[in-house]
Amino acid sequence: MPPSQNPAPAAPRRVIPIAAVAKDAADAPGGEGATVGLYAAQKKIYPRSIQGLFSRWRWAMVFITQAVFYGLPWLEWGQRQMVLFDLAARRFYIFGLVLYPQDLIYLTGLLVISALSLFFFTAVAGRLWCGYACPQTVYTEIFLWIEEKIEGQRSARIRLDKDAMSLEKLVKKWFKHLVWLAIALWTGFTFVGYFTPIRELAMAFLQTHMGSWEVFWAFFYGFATYGNAGFMREQVCKYMCPYARFQGAMFDRDTLVVSYDAARGEARGARGKQHDRSGLGDCIDCTLCVQVCPTGIDIRDGQQYECIGCGLCVDACNTVMDKMDYPRGLVRYATQNGIAARWSPRQVLARVFRPRVLIYASVLAVLSIGLLASLVARTPLKVDVVRDRASLSRIVEGGMLENVYRLQVMNATERPQRYRISVRGLDGLTVAAGDLAVVQPAESRWIAVRLQLPYDAAPPGSHTVHFDVQAVDDDARVSEKAIFLVPR
Ligand code: SF4
Ligand code: SF4
Repeated sequence: MPPSQNPAPAAPRRVIPIAAVAKDAADAPGGEGATVGLYAAQKKIYPRSIQGLFSRWRWAMVFITQAVFYGLPWLEWGQRQMVLFDLAARRFYIFGLVLYPQDLIYLTGLLVISALSLFFFTAVAGRLWCGYACPQTVYTEIFLWIEEKIEGQRSARIRLDKDAMSLEKLVKKWFKHLVWLAIALWTGFTFVGYFTPIRELAMAFLQTHMGSWEVFWAFFYGFATYGNAGFMREQVCKYMCPYARFQGAMFDRDTLVVSYDAARGEARGARGKQHDRSGLGDCIDCTLCVQVCPTGIDIRDGQQYECIGCGLCVDACNTVMDKMDYPRGLVRYATQNGIAARWSPRQVLARVFRPRVLIYASVLAVLSIGLLASLVARTPLKVDVVRDRASLSRIVEGGMLENVYRLQVMNATERPQRYRISVRGLDGLTVAAGDLAVVQPAESRWIAVRLQLPYDAAPPGSHTVHFDVQAVDDDARVSEKAIFLVPR
């Protein structure tokens, strides 16, 4: 943009405490009892598109994340869906793994690793997740791209919104919302496809036989996508996302964040020719970095919690620097210490891998290896023992004392299994019925098991015994504790 078209330089933003505002209002002429508005209407942001390294990275992440999200539920593993959280059957299928609700520990481990990864990446390079991989960012990027394709570039979109309603405006707006809605509903449908087999869901959808909860969640998630990516956009990051609020605790002066090099850029100002500086710094005050910002902030005002670290202002400023034949990097990923001490990129990187980051990395590595090892070594068999409360203990034919149990035997393999059930813990204790269980692949089965003990073989009271469940065709084996009651 030629300097002659530049808007007036924006005054740096100041944060004014509410108490100070109230005092100023009271001190102003006629200010006694003046009302201070705490609400400001949201101004619509029209981000300008930009080409560059970080823009390409953002689009690469859009393609990768969406290829995984939309594609994964359609892939098969043997006879079943590759990734399926089957809530109705209470089974989770992840590639070759079959998990039961009893395997919640693995999910917990995964969540802990995800949280720790977030801490690690935030300590290294700020809000990388927000800028590149968060669904809010990704869908906003997709929706903005559609908006631009239908309504035009930034200036055309601003003009269209200002114009009175016309047939052209109506058609463009309707078409844009239709495309948005189609993507949003497909997103909602795909989301539900992770929780109910997606092929059956697609058939049910085509025959309009979808169950009520599937319809509810497909529309709920679809409208959440439509609303958040189409309308709320940066407001979700600014006002709704808790991560934006506590990220400050994870930053320090050696965290890589998008920064404006004020010592190099100031005094900012328009200039006639590239070498006609007249005491000015490198910033030509073109505001391109502000126009491309999806949250509408000016990075030259310093670190702000609204910045999602997307790097688009870096691309924008580098484009301007190239045109002016100035060195790139007036706006760049840098650390506060690096900018203050004018460190080289090598010095900055040397400080990025500081003790705090190394501790995060070590804990992350240990937890990941531990989780992986426990998944590999996990026994593909689960057993729950429940006492039959209807008959705690009774004397049966032959003078035997009998306790009855119900065993839930869960086969976490992909083939039918036979399991032998035995018991130990009391001399003379035997399994009178239910010593063999046949369970289908990834199924669970309740087995009634009767334990018998010769009368007077044990003193009255509660005795701890152990059920041993052993696979006949492989070496999977599980032991579960139970209580055998001997009445007085
Ligand atoms: S200031 Fe720069 S890095 Fe931060 S959100 Fe705006 S464009 Fe992205
Ligand atoms: S920082 Fe760069 S993009 Fe932003 S106004 Fe200055 S010269 Fe333009």
